[in-house]
Amino acid sequence: MLTPQILSPRFQYAKIAAQSVLVELGNPEPPIDLHPYFKKRGWIVSYEDMGDVDGMTVKVLRPGGVRFVAYISTGDTSVYGGEIIRRRQRFTLGHELGHILMHGKYLLDSEQIPFALPSHVAANMEVEAHWFSSMVLMPNYVFRGITDLLPEQLADRCGVNLTPARKRLRNLSPSIRESLIQSARLDRWPKYDDEDYERCEYIRDRRLDTWDSFEQAFSRSKMVYICPSCSLIHTERIIFGRLCIECHTPIVKVSGI
Ligand SMILES: [Zn+2]
Ligand SMILES: [Zn+2]
Repeated sequence: MLTPQILSPRFQYAKIAAQSVLVELGNPEPPIDLHPYFKKRGWIVSYEDMGDVDGMTVKVLRPGGVRFVAYISTGDTSVYGGEIIRRRQRFTLGHELGHILMHGKYLLDSEQIPFALPSHVAANMEVEAHWFSSMVLMPNYVFRGITDLLPEQLADRCGVNLTPARKRLRNLSPSIRESLIQSARLDRWPKYDDEDYERCEYIRDRRLDTWDSFEQAFSRSKMVYICPSCSLIHTERIIFGRLCIECHTPIVKVSGI
């Protein structure tokens, strides 16, 4: 029997595994459906009433090799029209796929009696499977505009619940965050007050100033809204109602980025 040696979560490994799945699926747009990947491998996804358990994977030995069966909990679909459950199931399926790809060789054969993994190894496997699911459902390439930095927007686009979206954003690479913030339009929010602006001797490149202006907009404004369509930042100076003043798309409140 194999003894797994996973001393700490292998985040890079999980990320690469997730990328390889996405490449095989053709880097699809979110929300990302993992069922075709299971189908291609001849693995089974089975939705069962499993009580409190979200998911579980079983390895079945067959004459020609192994087959994995991922069991996903059906859950209570009466709440919020089942959307929360559907999103949880999507994340759980990603989590189980992470176990198969990264820990498949340690998974039990269905006929064997379960052996207890050392608790730190089991815990590290859980972290890895979660990180895999996060990276496969919210890969770097889905981050395109500043509104993707809002947990609610990211969760809606990727079809996951708020908790994993928040976690993903906390771990987003600083270079992606910065480049998304550059896409914010602050042209209706002058960096300087009018007086200061007149005194300013030369006009600086607004693009380079975006980060600075963005932080100032946040520190000086009680309300900051953003247009998901044209990325225009709205503060109390220019908010008239709940629509973008330029393109009339409903604006979204930003409580911090
Ligand atoms: Zn797990
Ligand atoms: Zn707009």
